[in-house]
Amino acid sequence: MTLAVDIPSVAYWWAACALLCCIWLLREYVWRHRTVARDEQIDAIRKDLHHLQESYSQAAFQQEWLSRLVDGDSSAEELALLVARWLPHDAQPQLWVMERGEDGTAAQLTVAAGNRAMLTRVTVSPQLWDQLEINGRVQLGEHELRHQRLLRLPSELARVVPELFVLRCGEHVPVNRILCTTHIPEWTGDRAENLRLLSWATQRWVAAIPVPANVAERIEEGENRMVRIMLELRTIADMEFASPMEMLREFLRILAKATGFDRVSLYLTQQDNSRKIDRFCWAGTGLEGDALDAWYQIEDSVVADHLDVSGLVVLTHDRNTHWANIGQVESIAITPLAPGNDPVGLLCLTSRSAINLGEVDRQIINWAARYLMQTLSRTVDRVVVEEQARRDSLTKLANRHTFDHEMARQLQVSGSLDEFCSLILIDLDHFKKVNDEFGHPAGDAVLQEVAHRLEREVGKTRVTDRPLVARLGGEELGVLLPGVGYSGANRIAEALRESIRSTPVVHEGVTIPVTASLGIAICPRNGREPRELFAAADAALYAAKASGRDCVRTAPAISASGAGSDEDAH
Ligand code: GH3
Ligand code: MG
Ligand code: MG
Repeated sequence: MTLAVDIPSVAYWWAACALLCCIWLLREYVWRHRTVARDEQIDAIRKDLHHLQESYSQAAFQQEWLSRLVDGDSSAEELALLVARWLPHDAQPQLWVMERGEDGTAAQLTVAAGNRAMLTRVTVSPQLWDQLEINGRVQLGEHELRHQRLLRLPSELARVVPELFVLRCGEHVPVNRILCTTHIPEWTGDRAENLRLLSWATQRWVAAIPVPANVAERIEEGENRMVRIMLELRTIADMEFASPMEMLREFLRILAKATGFDRVSLYLTQQDNSRKIDRFCWAGTGLEGDALDAWYQIEDSVVADHLDVSGLVVLTHDRNTHWANIGQVESIAITPLAPGNDPVGLLCLTSRSAINLGEVDRQIINWAARYLMQTLSRTVDRVVVEEQARRDSLTKLANRHTFDHEMARQLQVSGSLDEFCSLILIDLDHFKKVNDEFGHPAGDAVLQEVAHRLEREVGKTRVTDRPLVARLGGEELGVLLPGVGYSGANRIAEALRESIRSTPVVHEGVTIPVTASLGIAICPRNGREPRELFAAADAALYAAKASGRDCVRTAPAISASGAGSDEDAH
């Protein structure tokens, strides 16, 4: 009887225990799962927050710098102080701005972080100023700092600085102001991105341009359209374009859109005092054939009639018999590019519909004209026009004219310094076949890629400060190596040949093998005149072709006494 009662009660007891265990395990599982999910969520939020903080730092810096540019409060010194806020302060950074003195020392020094007494002793070599003119920024590692060839730091500083970044301020030529820093500001966790942002800021540095006095009032009134458009126009300078001309077109396009005009044309006067004015660039509504010709005719004639305007002039259709019979255009606004007696150009805005130009639009147009004149002068002025004329449009390398000019100059310098100067001529092998087999666009892509590789390879050589790579015509390229003699030139030529053949060019998924033949001539052993060197290098190139291509040949010395020996310092 006792047993009969006990067995079920033990079974119930065990069942209850098992149930409790299950409940506990289930609860534990759910709890754990929730904790993991919550931890993951927290992690994700942390990451987002970090990212947000990074983008905030970046945006805060960009916004502050842009507003200073608009406010005209944008001296290089202001920029240095602003950037210094984001330096890693525990690393004892040194950040300073120096203006070029006659001897490479600082004519004016602003120290935003670091030791002023030490920094007054920094000297910058002419080569570094020149390099900055071309590259915009230079990074000096321990090796370069120790050798002090480009920049000399006081020894107590050189000992502790592992690297130094030197960036040009603005884009004026010659470079006259640089920002140097031992550390990159930490806007984000990505060093390359931070360096890019720093370069953006230093390159966008411009001399202050006062904005109309009532901008501040307008912002207070909440009417910030003008500032928004100004900022939009200014940011164009930060975007990447294939050429300065494209940047200018984008500027004009946004100006047309912002002010309600169909087109904006920029006219520039010629420098020879002939009072001739040419359409340099335009943007806006695309027009074709006859319509475009008629439009141009209207623009040209109205601009010709308003060469002497001293400020913004707005014309409407009925008041101007001049273009009444041509039709199409209803409103025109013209403003000189330099207020004053000697305008360098004019902006001509045209529209098919009648435009009632408000005060804000007038101010935007006036401001844009001043901005183009002063801030974007590097784009508009002759330096850029000349620069474009200096370069080959397909490869962006120097063109034949530039190469000839530079070669003549370098040979003179080499002659007076009793230095070597080498010329390498490069001709792509069977290039006609590349065009025939893969098409002309593929041939163009090969030329661009080869140009890129040559520049990269030549840039690596440390034997010369001023190498020049040029496209001399068709598929023939040239490299000028001042200060480089026989063995240096051969070594570089081999490296160039290898860089072309080692990796086939891939164009639209198609692999194109490319090789080149190279001919070398060296001053003085093959002559001291460009003509002599070209002839010798050409003969060597011909010999390379005859030897089966994809090889380097050097012109033999013209005489046994040869002004230079086969061996040289390199
Ligand atoms: P080799 O190596 O023996 O000199 O033969 P090659 O075919 O390279 O020499 P050739 O001078 O007969 O042909 C050069 C070709 O280069 C002809 C021309 O169609 C092509 N070429 C020249 N300029 C350009 C260019 O700008 N773009 C393209 N795609 N092809 C070009
Ligand atoms: Mg050829
Ligand atoms: Mg060829």
